[in-house]
Amino acid sequence: MIDSGLLIVVSGPSGAGKGTICDALREHFPNIHYSISMTTRQPRPGEEDGVNYYFTDNGRFEELLKEDAFLEHAKVYDHYYGTPKEYVYQMLRQGNHVMLEIDIQGAMQVKEKYPQGVFIYIVPPSKAVLEERLRGRHTDSDEVIAARLAKARNELEWIDKYDYVIVNDDLGEAIQKAAAVLKAEECRVMRN
Ligand code: 5GP
Repeated sequence: MIDSGLLIVVSGPSGAGKGTICDALREHFPNIHYSISMTTRQPRPGEEDGVNYYFTDNGRFEELLKEDAFLEHAKVYDHYYGTPKEYVYQMLRQGNHVMLEIDIQGAMQVKEKYPQGVFIYIVPPSKAVLEERLRGRHTDSDEVIAARLAKARNELEWIDKYDYVIVNDDLGEAIQKAAAVLKAEECRVMRN
């Protein structure tokens, strides 16, 4: 039997619907704990420190990097993002699942350190839909949206490093697929 919970890593372009799918999964699986990342980017309207992210500055982030406090970290759009490692390992040891919603650079670092994780990539049905969703959020400038679209294109090359790819065309169906993946992974006898 496996005595550790699942480390679930979810990536995909901003606007693919990762956040919504992850929230729905947490309702289906009450033992999923969400790892709150640390970032040096500014909070968006409505975001709260300690809820969406731990917001910090470059100096503090770099200090924590030196202390090896992160399971992974990456620079995304000129800002640092990192997963504090203590929380993740503690939750897994207690038999809980931990969910990380992180970019590909970070996911590949986690894969090196924790290959038995479950790596899921969420894709939007098309580039046009992705652009429409990003614009519909009204949170980012044209420049930021262009950068996010370019990043999404580059990331497609890495999809085959993930265990599962879920196309978020119909949200309900995408949630069902992701839940089915986790159910199956919970039943797996041996991982890697
Ligand atoms: P946003 O600024 O839109 O919240 O996130 C931008 C990107 O950073 C998203 O692709 C998100 O998944 C990624 N991200 C968020 N937290 C982390 C983290 O702790 N580590 C890494 N590597 N990426 C993260």
